[in-house]
Amino acid sequence: MSRTITILGATGSVGASTLDLVRRNREQWQVGALTAHSRAGELASLAREFGARLAVIADETQFPALKEALAGSGVEAAAGREALCEAAARPADLVMAAIVGCAGLAPVMAAIEQGRTVALANKEALVSAGEVMTAAVERHGARLLPVDSEHNAIFQCLQGGRLDEVRSITLTASGGPLRTWTPAQLDAATPAEAIAHPNWDMGAKISVDSATMFNKGLELIEAHHLFPIPLERIRILVHPQSVIHSMVEYRDGSTLAQLGPSDMRVPIASCLAWPERMETPMPPLDLAAVGELTFFEPDEARFPATALARQAAEAGGAAPAVLNAANEIAVEAFLAGKIAFSRIALSVRSVLEAGNLPPAPRTLDDVLMIDEAARAMARERLEVR
Ligand code: NDP
Repeated sequence: MSRTITILGATGSVGASTLDLVRRNREQWQVGALTAHSRAGELASLAREFGARLAVIADETQFPALKEALAGSGVEAAAGREALCEAAARPADLVMAAIVGCAGLAPVMAAIEQGRTVALANKEALVSAGEVMTAAVERHGARLLPVDSEHNAIFQCLQGGRLDEVRSITLTASGGPLRTWTPAQLDAATPAEAIAHPNWDMGAKISVDSATMFNKGLELIEAHHLFPIPLERIRILVHPQSVIHSMVEYRDGSTLAQLGPSDMRVPIASCLAWPERMETPMPPLDLAAVGELTFFEPDEARFPATALARQAAEAGGAAPAVLNAANEIAVEAFLAGKIAFSRIALSVRSVLEAGNLPPAPRTLDDVLMIDEAARAMARERLEVR
């Protein structure tokens, strides 16, 4: 029996890893909708290859190019943000949410409102919407399967255990490519240096987040929503080899960890096959070749992002959405060569601490308004368009 998968963000890094696994198991999957932002040519060729029913491009100016590239293929084409949500809401056994940023939030919510099983890579959506999303999951009988390698590891370590027996959760962090750099070196870090992750091959935004440690900060908030235990019991530990993807300590002193290669196809496969297991092309884990696993406390003086994220998570309400929006704008400005690396965290702090946080969001529209206002403030403070 084949299952239907929809992939939001099909042309990205997580999209490619997901499609690689689907390609290896073609008889098990029908591809429903595939979406992208602006790369119409790439989207059309994936839609043709996988015989997708629908291809949606978010950027409407690319609609003519998409239609032309799909001519005669039998794949339906659509464009715009509404069309993204309609694609996400179509019947599917699994919706892979792999758009980057809060731009993915409305489509994720559209899938949740249909009670779908959503494999969630798009952490910014959950960070921004928080309880609005988790309440919708509950209300509509949807399910979130965590794709992020750390959260997928925790999810696996919790199989057979109960959250009320958990003493602590430890999120491991590689520390990123700039982990050992001095403050002066960090200040001068270029986008190419920040993106050159030692262990993972990922999209540009998450690579920069990994270099600033905002990725771990966002993951802290993500973990708090997915595995609701008190924040102070969720820890961050730098582990440069990225072999242990996260750990759960139970109250009897047992710690369970999930280990594996630094390849997103492992956690993605765990979501695709859940609650079963599937083959992946990964070679067996060779710990003798790895030799040594090391661990360090995070240095929040050089990398203040995790402290800022904890502050936002503790404040709750609108704060995580503000933190996320300010970070998205700062990363965009850094990647465009408009600001220095160290200004990313400074800028997020200044938006977060500007005072007068809006009231806690209760609906998707509230979250989108908070996101928009925080983006405007971040742009203004950075003086970038
Ligand atoms: P990429 O930048 O590689 O891909 C992003 C995808 O989203 C592309 O398909 C892109 O389309 C699409 N997209 C971008 N902006 C918009 C928009 N405004 N509206 C609609 N679609 C959009 O990102 P990643 O695959 O690296 O990351 C995706 C998500 O998964 C992120 O939230 C990230 O944090 C998370 N994640 C990623 C991991 C990884 O290994 N890459 C690991 C764990 C989590 P187009 O190609 O046309 O621009």
